[in-house]
Amino acid sequence: MRNLRDMTYDDLASEARRLEEKPYRAEQLFAWIYQRRAVDIDEMTDISKAFRARLKEEFFIGGGNVLEVRKAADGTRKFLTELEDGARIESVLIPETDRLTLCVSSQAGCALGCRFCMTGMAGFTRNLNLSELTNQVFSAIKILDEGEKLTNIVLMGMGEPLNNFDNVLKFTKILTAPRGFGFSHNKVTLSTAGLVPGIKKLGEESNINLAVSLNATTDEVRDRIMPINKKYPLSELIPALRSYPLKGKRHITIEYVVLKDVNDSIEDAKRLVRLLHGLPCKINLIPFNAFPGAAFKSPETERVLRIHDFLKEAGFVVIVRSSKGSEIQAACGQLKGWYEAKGA
Ligand code: SF4
Repeated sequence: MRNLRDMTYDDLASEARRLEEKPYRAEQLFAWIYQRRAVDIDEMTDISKAFRARLKEEFFIGGGNVLEVRKAADGTRKFLTELEDGARIESVLIPETDRLTLCVSSQAGCALGCRFCMTGMAGFTRNLNLSELTNQVFSAIKILDEGEKLTNIVLMGMGEPLNNFDNVLKFTKILTAPRGFGFSHNKVTLSTAGLVPGIKKLGEESNINLAVSLNATTDEVRDRIMPINKKYPLSELIPALRSYPLKGKRHITIEYVVLKDVNDSIEDAKRLVRLLHGLPCKINLIPFNAFPGAAFKSPETERVLRIHDFLKEAGFVVIVRSSKGSEIQAACGQLKGWYEAKGA
């Protein structure tokens, strides 16, 4: 049996052809799966009983076994999903004044081993398939409070999305399809640790937003905290960002996790200004949220604010990201660790 939530529009069109159905069946099925969020093939009442019976011989709709949902006082919700093979992934709903963002995982674990990241420290299990990506959206919608609406999607959870390129690209197409989840392209953001060939390919094949986890201004520091920098150093990464196609008023988001005594000096801020000069970007400063066993410490607020002020004076749009939902282990990889530590 195959999961209909693993199907793109093109897959459904070829299934409709194979089953000798009219081409418009693909459109109907696509809308039932993603826009109308059917959980059972029999809900698809504008499709003949005979075709539904035929579909049920080969397909089902499902997945997304949520083990735990935690809600913080600030409204952040984190949920842990168990996949069919027992692997576990996390997703986070983040409310802000004018938006409600879902942070989606793209892999179970991550192979990149960034040293400030709990997921990276736990290693890589596997890529998520399409239904495991879409199910995070379905599960999030199910736990929304009355009157809430999901407005933004960021691929910024567990994993490096560009290392799961094909499934992630299919997922973003379903997110932005009018008869899919219907998000506008500028409400969907993919965050990468800096895989240069993947950034180029994404620019060619999609027009979603790009965020880059930069975190350092020299190769020496970046090599130390993000091993991927040895493969794609700043001299390759920054030009790839400059070449990323940006339409209209769009910009690249630069994520900068501030680590005490590692990248929190005013010299770092000066180098950041030089590195990013002329690049349409917005900088998010994220004070590191230390976790048990972490190799780094949280920075002093005063130093974070100094960097903030320096960047702002240099003309950048810069935001200090508050640590959302810290009491529910909302940082990357923490809920999974907590759940496993309590013996579940
Ligand atoms: S920060 Fe992202 S890319 Fe780096 S190890 Fe963690 S999940 Fe992987």
